[in-house]
Amino acid sequence: MPEHLRSKFITPPTGWSYPEPDGTYIRAAHWGQLIEMIKQHRKVNNIPVSPELEQEVESWICSQISPELCTGGSSAQQGKPRPVTVWTVTAATKIALYAWRNENRMSVSLLEAGRRAAICAVCSQNSTNAACLSCRGLVSWVRGWMPRTTPSDSNLYVCNATGIMNIAAVHMGQGPIRSSTPKEVIGRFAKDCWKLPLLEKVDAKTNPAK
Ligand code: SF4
Repeated sequence: MPEHLRSKFITPPTGWSYPEPDGTYIRAAHWGQLIEMIKQHRKVNNIPVSPELEQEVESWICSQISPELCTGGSSAQQGKPRPVTVWTVTAATKIALYAWRNENRMSVSLLEAGRRAAICAVCSQNSTNAACLSCRGLVSWVRGWMPRTTPSDSNLYVCNATGIMNIAAVHMGQGPIRSSTPKEVIGRFAKDCWKLPLLEKVDAKTNPAK
């Protein structure tokens, strides 16, 4: 199954770039411009433009970045753990926040958010690897989107399964949770993760990138 970017509105860590067969490295400001620049380059240099060009470019970009930012691909690719970095945290959390906004900011009660946060706080997947989230401004950035807190906030970091900041995820309703969770990462959740009952019916039809 070919890999697809989960969002073409978020610049990948590679930037919008692509190495052409003649050695030229194309760089663009956004996805649409990248495809147009590649087509133009090929036209000028008599390089064939494949009807699968966009898929080829997506697959190449996905081969360069964290699998959390793509869907599809082999289970081996998707199951491969990668280090959580500040960049992947920002991108994955942004995708989740966009999904939440697009579903009318569907949120659970503060009581339910607190229950979830208490589970995340002691979960082995609650990762501190992307250290110093607050000093990088990410906590205040999330607060700007959703000014809600739970008693466990000081112990919430990043979910290692998704790369999403837990201070954001614990407040989201079932719709945004489902639409921001690629089915490929479900196997990485802790067995008592609060998300699992919400994701039981996630399949190709509910995956947002399909
Ligand atoms: S696996 Fe579930 S419980 Fe654990 S940190 Fe991630 S979202 Fe929280």
